[in-house]
Amino acid sequence: MIEVNKDKVKEMGELLKHLDLKFNVFPKIKKAGSREEAERTLTLLFYVDAICHQTRKFEGYVDDKHLKGWDYLFACFERKLKEDADFINVDRMRKITGTQLGEILMGSGERYYERAYLLRNAAIILKRDFSGSVMKINEISEGFIKREDGKGMHDLMRRFKAYSDPLGKKIFLFLNFTKKVGFWEIRDPENLWTPVDYHLERVSLRIGLVDIDKKTFDKLSKGKKVPLTFDIKLREKIGGSVKEVSNISRIPIENLDQLFWSLGRSLCLREGPFCDGRDMENCTLKDITGIPCKNKCIFSSKCSAYKDPGRKALKESNIYTIYY
Ligand code: SF4
Repeated sequence: MIEVNKDKVKEMGELLKHLDLKFNVFPKIKKAGSREEAERTLTLLFYVDAICHQTRKFEGYVDDKHLKGWDYLFACFERKLKEDADFINVDRMRKITGTQLGEILMGSGERYYERAYLLRNAAIILKRDFSGSVMKINEISEGFIKREDGKGMHDLMRRFKAYSDPLGKKIFLFLNFTKKVGFWEIRDPENLWTPVDYHLERVSLRIGLVDIDKKTFDKLSKGKKVPLTFDIKLREKIGGSVKEVSNISRIPIENLDQLFWSLGRSLCLREGPFCDGRDMENCTLKDITGIPCKNKCIFSSKCSAYKDPGRKALKESNIYTIYY
């Protein structure tokens, strides 16, 4: 049993509605000054997003800064682009090998051959269907995420193997990037949905936005493997509940996603949450929301796990996936 807890969704929506949060989403991504610049940045993001799944093992120093996960992947790709501006060209990317990808990522992380395959597939389809340009996706869709004729951005992007998640985590993350970069039209923003990744899954479960039966609770708490079909159902309910929190709080979904994501990276960790705050040097939560990591979690008054050690042990699904 997986059910949305409507009361908790409402409580969270109301709580957030009355907090005056100052968001700085995707702080490392700049607004483009021209269409050419937007195309270059979005092409880079399109490829990084394509391989951004199960990134826990990626970390290291880039330009003397210690980074992990998404930040690490993005910084490595940005660095490569500075040295070799042509590297994101479709004719180059469709030949990338696992070994070359490993070099770009400086040997950190894993599954280079799978990720290189996804990059090659993305470049081949980009050339075949979109004249080699990500901007063409926006043009063909005429700015619609969903269209009945199958030409909405969601359906177009699902042609890429890397973006084939039925719940579109990488697609919605990419669309959130486009809102920051600009020169990309979205005419049906009501169809933006939650990019559900493992941080959002874990934080939502602990807060109690969805309820699960005891057997599932035990499995997730112990980190036991679960089927992909189960995980899709769970993420679907979680994504719907967070979208509803966004509607109630009137916090745009890309901001709310970044709040949950940064909380999951900073305080609400897989190994256990720091509900009363912690001192840390690189606080993603502060970078994105202005809330220092040393403060008590802003959800503590409503979070079901705050006073429940059993619930604090809940974790995201243990699966193997390329979806998120
Ligand atoms: S109160 Fe604790 S368990 Fe709940 S969301 Fe915050 S850090 Fe996570």
